[in-house]
Amino acid sequence: MFSQRMQSGGRRVGPSCEPAGRIHSNRRTFPMITRIDHLGIAVRSLDEAIAHYEQALGLKCEHREDVPSQKVRTAFFAVGEVHLELLEPTSPDSPVAKFLEKNGEGLHHVAYATTDIVGQLQQAVGSGVKLIHEKPIEGAAGKLVAFLHPKSTYGVLTEFCMEKSS
Ligand code: ZN
Repeated sequence: MFSQRMQSGGRRVGPSCEPAGRIHSNRRTFPMITRIDHLGIAVRSLDEAIAHYEQALGLKCEHREDVPSQKVRTAFFAVGEVHLELLEPTSPDSPVAKFLEKNGEGLHHVAYATTDIVGQLQQAVGSGVKLIHEKPIEGAAGKLVAFLHPKSTYGVLTEFCMEKSS
């Protein structure tokens, strides 16, 4: 619809961020990432980690929840608009158990809140991203979630999440 062009000519755009007028203007709108929703941190013991985060950082655990689809127990801490999600595996074949085996405890994933999780996945696939979930699954706090393969996102496991009502 909009035919505004910030850039013209055949040269590929340089290393910096593209200007607001995108080169690929055939897409009407991008699905919207609105913020970082939470950071996932893999831990061996949820109880110990909760106590430690409360004591050492003075944060308050707001919510605990089992997430059977991921075979984890989780605990959430609010840090302004962003949350921390501590994850403890409930089974040796949990993806988080495998992560712990390989990497030890630490940052597990970055989760982006989006207004359109299906569109977001399509957008990613269209850009050559390998998905872990082709379709959204049931996540914590009644949200729909889907993960992108870390090999496709510079080594960081990436999650999209969306409120079911939106
Ligand atoms: Zn998460």
